[in-house]
Amino acid sequence: MNVSRIDEMIMRLEGLDSLERQDIEELQLKKLNALLMRFKELPHTFYPDLPAHLESLSDLCKLPFTTDEDLACNPGSFLTGSQSEIERVLSDATSGTTGSQKRVFYTAKDLENTVELFKAGLGELVFPGSRTMICMPFSGPNGLGDLIAKAIEALGAVPLKIGSYVNYSELARVLERENPDTFVGFPTNLLSLLRACGKGSLKRALVSADACPGSVTDASEDILGTALFPHYGSREMALGGAICCPAHEGMHLRENHCIAEIVGENGEVLPRGEYGELVITTIGMQAMPLIRYRTGDRAVILKDPCPCGSSVLRLGADISRLNEDKAALADNEMFKFSSVIDCSYKLEEHALSVDIIHNGPIDRTAVISSLSPIFPDCEITLDLTGFSSALYPLYKGKRIIMQE
Ligand SMILES: [Zn+2]
Repeated sequence: MNVSRIDEMIMRLEGLDSLERQDIEELQLKKLNALLMRFKELPHTFYPDLPAHLESLSDLCKLPFTTDEDLACNPGSFLTGSQSEIERVLSDATSGTTGSQKRVFYTAKDLENTVELFKAGLGELVFPGSRTMICMPFSGPNGLGDLIAKAIEALGAVPLKIGSYVNYSELARVLERENPDTFVGFPTNLLSLLRACGKGSLKRALVSADACPGSVTDASEDILGTALFPHYGSREMALGGAICCPAHEGMHLRENHCIAEIVGENGEVLPRGEYGELVITTIGMQAMPLIRYRTGDRAVILKDPCPCGSSVLRLGADISRLNEDKAALADNEMFKFSSVIDCSYKLEEHALSVDIIHNGPIDRTAVISSLSPIFPDCEITLDLTGFSSALYPLYKGKRIIMQE
């Protein structure tokens, strides 16, 4: 029987001969207990009061949660090693009330493990000799783009480091001259590229780093003629969290590095198959392992075994923010209109203005009535720009509703 790539990766990294459910859970409990023991030995840790040992994984739910506010208020106390071991730090302002910067630290080993996960995920669609255009931010060594490029090189393939803020004429030139067969980037960026420039030599795509509305997936798959490979990651999981296998039914979690739970509104653990907030315990992170970190993402752990034969748990591919993600809802409506190349939203009190770049007729009334249920009590205006100059750049970063 073929061993799935996620299974191969976990067995190789952990020195295991088999990867049944029991093997995975034994590994997780062992790593969790080693981590709890380590917290007991650290002089200044955020987790001084946790038990030193759990009898079973089911006891994990008795430990307290870790939140973004905790990370922002106590940056140093989450480190388990010395500053000198830190290879990279990512920081950003949290959406919380403190206004502090959340910082996430990685050791070289953490980043190596991420590249291993990327290799397992990309290995399904990137082959020796193939050429992948990476439309992700290249923010220096060990940034997201760089880690993806390393994984592609390790697979014997060619990474084309395009970046994430590129205009359509440059993208058209890449398609024409570089003959990429694979795309890696943000979901809506992929569709914008396909609609503006055509698919050229592209055959396959891995999408990540933002919500992927259903209409964006459907339209992209229609043009490409192949199913997309969605990927899930977060900074707390060193940018790589879960990967899609050939079954295209959800995304396998890196369970050797992360224990996932789904919790309901009152923090209770929900059974598999139910949607709630994804909570992760990052037992495999070296620099900054977290206990029961609330991701703020709405997800489901799928109940049934995967057709690929792996026992590694899967998240459903339809992950979104826990708080209603109006940008994703609006995008889902907007990209149903086949002439929409891209759009952006600005909300000011009760007025929503939508800038639309399009390359064909647009029915204004139909657009407004599809957005109205998402923005009730808002006056909606559209600003239409015909796609001609090709000097527009791809939408930069995660899609948002800009608030005035
Ligand atoms: Zn699978």
